[in-house]
Amino acid sequence: MRYVKPHYYDKFSCTAGQCPDTCCAEWLITIDDASLERYAGFKSGFGSRLAGAIDWEEGCFLQYKGRCSLLNENGLCDMVAELGEEYLCETCSRYPRHVEEFKGVRELSLSLSCPAAAEIILGCGEGLRLLQEEDEVKEPLKEEFEDFDLELFHRLQESREILFRIIQDKETEAGSTEGNMGGGPSIERRMHMALELAGRLQICVDAGKASDMNGVLREFSTVYNDGIHEGEHAFDEKRRFFRMREGFAVLQGLERLRDEWEEVLSGTWNTLYARGEAHYLKVRGIFLKEYGAGGRFYEDWNRFLENFLLFFLYTYFCGAVYDDWVYSKVALAVFSAVYIQEFVMFCYISSDKSIDKGDWVELAYRYAREIEHSDNNLNLLEELLQNSRLA
Ligand code: SF4
Repeated sequence: MRYVKPHYYDKFSCTAGQCPDTCCAEWLITIDDASLERYAGFKSGFGSRLAGAIDWEEGCFLQYKGRCSLLNENGLCDMVAELGEEYLCETCSRYPRHVEEFKGVRELSLSLSCPAAAEIILGCGEGLRLLQEEDEVKEPLKEEFEDFDLELFHRLQESREILFRIIQDKETEAGSTEGNMGGGPSIERRMHMALELAGRLQICVDAGKASDMNGVLREFSTVYNDGIHEGEHAFDEKRRFFRMREGFAVLQGLERLRDEWEEVLSGTWNTLYARGEAHYLKVRGIFLKEYGAGGRFYEDWNRFLENFLLFFLYTYFCGAVYDDWVYSKVALAVFSAVYIQEFVMFCYISSDKSIDKGDWVELAYRYAREIEHSDNNLNLLEELLQNSRLA
């Protein structure tokens, strides 16, 4: 079995009582059968506390005031304190670690919805490197791999490499860098190129010709800086307000996992979109003075967006082997990055320009909680992005 993980994967450690937004609050934590059986074996001492903290019928931990009932007033888990980490159920011991299973390959990632993981993922200053190792473990024969399209999977892995290069490109002599001080195409242009590549790959997949992806990849791996690859995705800056407002309506239509998210959505709507295009452009102009080319946050902000995009591409892109939706995986990354920028813009304006990198990270993990932790939201967004050109 081959294991793939981002170079920062092993840096994660839970900040427990110091966590600003613990995962033991608000989420229903389901307990795997083996752990339930183990917990049922505790009859005395901590056993009675444990018994009262579990909904035995539903197989989950009970909540008290929106928090796991085993979480004490110091934000620490009483089970870990009394019994040790080895007694955590699968959900608690794994989170925020995530595994994507492919034939012969397990891809490990950290979830962006955990504040400590988000800080590592988004604060990374050296780009993304994937580490690989193999062990002798033979993959269990699973029915789900019977129809696994190995050729498509390999092409997707190669495509993801090219997407990483496009997103991290700082070197290419770009025809139009839009005043990009760091050299290479601007981050917006790189996102458009990534979308263009995804659109071309989708055509190959729709035609059932995964082998044709090779030609597209060759083309994009040699030159993607001459403008020809932006195609229909070349962003029409003049229509930005209308596009952003249209896409925002989609976010407003999604299910809310946390009430506080509504404040971000309504604040963004009122600050950016409710007062029309001229107001939006004025606000964006103020934002770009510090976040745009030449601004004091420009480099850090671009690095943050790159890391954000790389996270989504690494985590989701190769999953297209199961549903053939190549375009939506890239569009989800771009759509999310574009709206993180809008949320940061809202917070920047409404806080009188006093937000910092910690606030960027907070908006990102709160966004991830809403999108990634709801199958409904993720599926709906992907469907819309696959079938429209919202991103
Ligand atoms: S959200 Fe992350 S850092 Fe916070 S308690 Fe959960 S695992 Fe630990």
